Amino acid sequence: MNRLIQAIAFAAARHCNQRRKDAQASPYINHPIALANVLANEAGVTDEAVLIAAILHDTVEDTDTSAAELAEIFGEDVARIVMEVTDDKSLPKAERKRLQIEHAAHVSDQAKLVKLADKICNLRDIVAMPPADWDSERKQDYFNWARRVVDPMRGVHPVLEAIFDAAYGEGNVLV
Ligand code: ZN
Repeated sequence: MNRLIQAIAFAAARHCNQRRKDAQASPYINHPIALANVLANEAGVTDEAVLIAAILHDTVEDTDTSAAELAEIFGEDVARIVMEVTDDKSLPKAERKRLQIEHAAHVSDQAKLVKLADKICNLRDIVAMPPADWDSERKQDYFNWARRVVDPMRGVHPVLEAIFDAAYGEGNVLV
């Protein structure tokens, strides 16, 4: 529990100047907290390394944080899971999106849980508070891509997958 709270404080500090893409520009930290909440309280995940990695999942990709730093503070397991869900930002965006689909089946079960929760939260956000400049086609493209990332991971956690399917179904209102 203390390590989880430490992770929340760490992520809040690192993401402090960032905002989400929704019209209200929500604080970025709402997103990793939402992931951990889905995992713990909707899917019943109790693996502490998974919950901590969910809180930290965007710190390496989107802030000045290194894998070595996470390993030192939160342990090798947490750092490994975060790196498994971190895109290589030196690659073009389309290539990163393609690699997420390709890599999905090959990451650890712990990383699959974080990835599933990430896609659940992003789909929910697109329905509830979409980016102001996204038209329905762009939203639909994101839904389709998220599903292509999730499908190769199926079997890892049926409850979490059902939560994804429900969030995906909500996207029917978009078309
Ligand atoms: Zn995320």
